[in-house]
Amino acid sequence: MSGTDFDLVVIGAGHAGLVAAAELRRVGREPVVLEAGDVAQAWRDRYRDLHLITTRRASQLPGVRYPASVGRWPGRDDVIRYLEHYAGTSGVEIRRSTPVERVEVGSSKVGIEAGGSRFTARSVVVATGRYAEPVEPPGLRQALGRLGDVIHSAQFVAPSDHRDGVCLVVGGGASGVDMARLLAGAGRPVFHHSQHPIALLPETVAGIPVPPVAGWLGRHVPPRLLDHTVPRLLRLVGSPVSRAPYSPMPSEMLQRESLPALDRGYAHLVDARRVVQLTTLDVAASGCRGLGLDGAEHRFRPHLTVLATGYRPALGFLDERYHHHVTARQDSRPDRSGLICGIGYQRALEGQFRRARAEARHLATDATGRNNPER
Ligand SMILES: Cc1cc2nc3c(=O)[nH]c(=O)nc-3n(C[C@H](O)[C@H](O)[C@H](O)COP(=O)(O)OP(=O)(O)OC[C@H]3O[C@@H](n4cnc5c(N)ncnc54)[C@H](O)[C@@H]3O)c2cc1C
Repeated sequence: MSGTDFDLVVIGAGHAGLVAAAELRRVGREPVVLEAGDVAQAWRDRYRDLHLITTRRASQLPGVRYPASVGRWPGRDDVIRYLEHYAGTSGVEIRRSTPVERVEVGSSKVGIEAGGSRFTARSVVVATGRYAEPVEPPGLRQALGRLGDVIHSAQFVAPSDHRDGVCLVVGGGASGVDMARLLAGAGRPVFHHSQHPIALLPETVAGIPVPPVAGWLGRHVPPRLLDHTVPRLLRLVGSPVSRAPYSPMPSEMLQRESLPALDRGYAHLVDARRVVQLTTLDVAASGCRGLGLDGAEHRFRPHLTVLATGYRPALGFLDERYHHHVTARQDSRPDRSGLICGIGYQRALEGQFRRARAEARHLATDATGRNNPER
């Protein structure tokens, strides 16, 4: 292959792109990774106090372990160091600061424009992340912006970056729960609005980490049986999240294919009224009004609002007709010609790192020709 004509281009040097490149190299392909920023860029941009909700074992990639010194739940900087180390040992060529601007799928090759240069490749693996572009409910930023500062959770770094005062967190997923906890822990009065009941899991029960067990149960036990037994089990072990409103309903988790947030002190802060959960939220020019879980009305003016309202993939460099193909499940991809595919876009009860690992193995198997009808 020449300097601009590659066997295989992987776009993105996060978990998914790095493991795809390493696994494909293992079966004889010659990948080059094009990365807009640096290795693990998404993690460099995330908030300082972030700890994984999957254990270090469930979060590691084939052949490279996290050091035991990171503890059970690796933090943001541990993940960055781990991915740098993984990238270094994989032997894969990584071109940093090379944002892909355009991908054209031809009949036998793929054309790529990246960082001011043009390349071609026999195949492309897109791994630019499911959590790439912040999503906000229409109009909310504008309405809340009249009352105070508004940021998306993607812009949150630490409570100390924001002036003291009342905070509002919108969104009941893992990021919303964590940011409400961090702001309240830093002494800010916090209102937390979620449209849906917030589901929490304890980090551990009797010293055993809960997420891997929950993921396994979710994959192997019928949801209705889990709905019946999990809340009872949590009550039995005296977990604060066994009480309404947190009790996770496994059938809902299965439907969303994602683990709930972990309780790292959030339930305690709600009990202590340092976080007030709101089931409704009305925003007017004079302030916000919302109903608490007990039906009491709260009126407040937030100095800071964090919109923890989710993300979507950013695939603007690729013709829209390939978006579904790139983000679809491995086993439901319509075209297996090998020209272009994606990795890391599926939610998974077992955690996305684990899923990306399995998807990368599938890709490697396909590349050896065993599963690929075109070869
Ligand atoms: C706050 C948060 C916490 C999470 N915690 C966990 C957890 O504990 N356990 C778990 O299993 N999952 C977790 N996830 C979900 C998921 O595993 C992570 O988001 C993970 O980083 C996804 O890896 P990825 O490689 O698919 O994408 P990313 O890590 O987002 O990597 C994508 C890479 O592509 C690059 N890129 C993007 N566009 C371009 C372009 N046009 N050209 C070149 N490069 C580009 C980016 O710079 C980035 O480096 C979490 C997600 C979030 C948002």
